[in-house]
Amino acid sequence: MTGAPLADPSADLPEGFLAAVDACLGPRGWSTDAGRIAELCVERWGTARGRSGLLLRPGSVAEVAAVLRLCHDAGVAVVPQGGNTGLVGAGVPDASGRLAILSLARLDRIRAVDPLNDTITVEAGCVLARVQDAAAAVDRLFPLALGAQGTCQIGGNIASNAGGLNVLRYGMARALVLGLEVVLADGRLWDGLRSLRKDNTGYDLKQLFIGAEGTLGVITAAVLRLFPRPREVQTAWLAVPSPQAAVELLAHCRGQLGETISSFELMAGGLVELVLAYLPGARAPLARPAAWQVLIEVGWSLEEGLAARLEAVLAAAMEQGLISDGTLAASEQQRQALWTLRESPTDAMAHAGAVLRHDVAVPISEVPALIAEGETVFQTLLPGVRILPFGHVGDGNLHYNLLQPPDWSAEAFLARKAEVQARVFDLVLAHGGSISAEHGIGRLKRDELARRRPAVDLELMRALKTVLDPRGILNPGAVL
Ligand SMILES: Cc1cc2nc3c(=O)[nH]c(=O)nc-3n(C[C@H](O)[C@H](O)[C@H](O)COP(=O)(O)OP(=O)(O)OC[C@H]3O[C@@H](n4cnc5c(N)ncnc54)[C@H](O)[C@@H]3O)c2cc1C
Repeated sequence: MTGAPLADPSADLPEGFLAAVDACLGPRGWSTDAGRIAELCVERWGTARGRSGLLLRPGSVAEVAAVLRLCHDAGVAVVPQGGNTGLVGAGVPDASGRLAILSLARLDRIRAVDPLNDTITVEAGCVLARVQDAAAAVDRLFPLALGAQGTCQIGGNIASNAGGLNVLRYGMARALVLGLEVVLADGRLWDGLRSLRKDNTGYDLKQLFIGAEGTLGVITAAVLRLFPRPREVQTAWLAVPSPQAAVELLAHCRGQLGETISSFELMAGGLVELVLAYLPGARAPLARPAAWQVLIEVGWSLEEGLAARLEAVLAAAMEQGLISDGTLAASEQQRQALWTLRESPTDAMAHAGAVLRHDVAVPISEVPALIAEGETVFQTLLPGVRILPFGHVGDGNLHYNLLQPPDWSAEAFLARKAEVQARVFDLVLAHGGSISAEHGIGRLKRDELARRRPAVDLELMRALKTVLDPRGILNPGAVL
């Protein structure tokens, strides 16, 4: 770890550092207020917590560049922070107290919207929901959507290569970025803010910063792709007999409805029951509880006709035994109610007890085997455990969650975390999967990455890190 300890900044920072920061950012642009900083040291929804003595809040790209140059020269390490909705300990400082928090919140301008080029240019601190709204205002869709969209920032989304609810149709954040503006570790500005769909001029440098979790550069702005806004959207909630039926249903629907499918989400029935018990006023979407349930959403740019097609496709699936029950949202209000059920498992589980969570991916065809084998492995290891997977199964992405057995204490259950995580990852890798589907590596999965990625992969990653951040001041300890 580089940099001076920051727990008591006035004592431990290089002499004159805070005065230089003040000259560069002005009094609004930094703080050593312990109460204010403490809040930003704890993941809002996750489990990671750390310490820091200095908050940097630059208000412009020039200020980001100037303050990073200062940090680089003084050897002060920083953790870039967006909306702090990450779940892998990447956006909060570690326990050393040596990392300053570099908040991008004040860089929140929408710089340009170009409906003819189908692009929007935004600064890193724009909250995702605002980007979606700005796209809708010109009758376009910005399709990145996730439960934390009212809080997370586009810079954080890009730095974590966020996935979310529409990956099936539109891809992850990486697929939505045309250009980036990045401040490098030494304060140089890399201007890659192009809005081209075709640009084969050498290495595609922006890709290095997407998904790098703030370890290779600080994103200050991005050009994002926009899409035609679907005029007709249909959403159905279905009971399926098994995970195998769910993936066969997905193949059936893809064959019949093709690119109109934007979401295909699987939820364990036990999880739906927990959500219904937790959410005030929530209504069960199906007449009877079902062991496995699916939310499917389709949309297109035509005015109508999709509902009838979806109904016909689902009726055929029912005849084949892939669906046993289902309901179609009859209004936007009903659609929202279905999505609320889908977006509430994290809170509902937290309410019900201690949870061991894993964000993993396998090829879609391997999802049923993963779930079946997991049932055997974890019921043997943790008798009575409630296994409650849910996720974007259309992308092969499961949030594989284990809820404490009712007769265990939370402490006893959480004490098994490392062992359980290793068993989940073994299972996932045996099925050709990934130990992080969309949440990233951060600090929580760093050692697993080091253990499980091939040596050459790690050598290349370390070489890139050395070139772009030779003094190791950008989010040290995250990813590598
Ligand atoms: C309820 C809920 C639902 C979620 N659903 C999903 C989901 O469906 N799909 C999904 O992928 N994730 C999901 N997440 C996780 C999280 O919301 C995403 O990872 C999100 O992209 C993080 O954005 P943020 O602005 O909060 O970033 P932060 O948490 O602040 O930071 C995340 C990472 O990005 C880095 N970073 C932040 N800003 C910058 C910048 N400008 N330049 C360089 N690095 C930067 C940080 O250092 C850190 O490494 C969910 C989280 C919650 C709480």
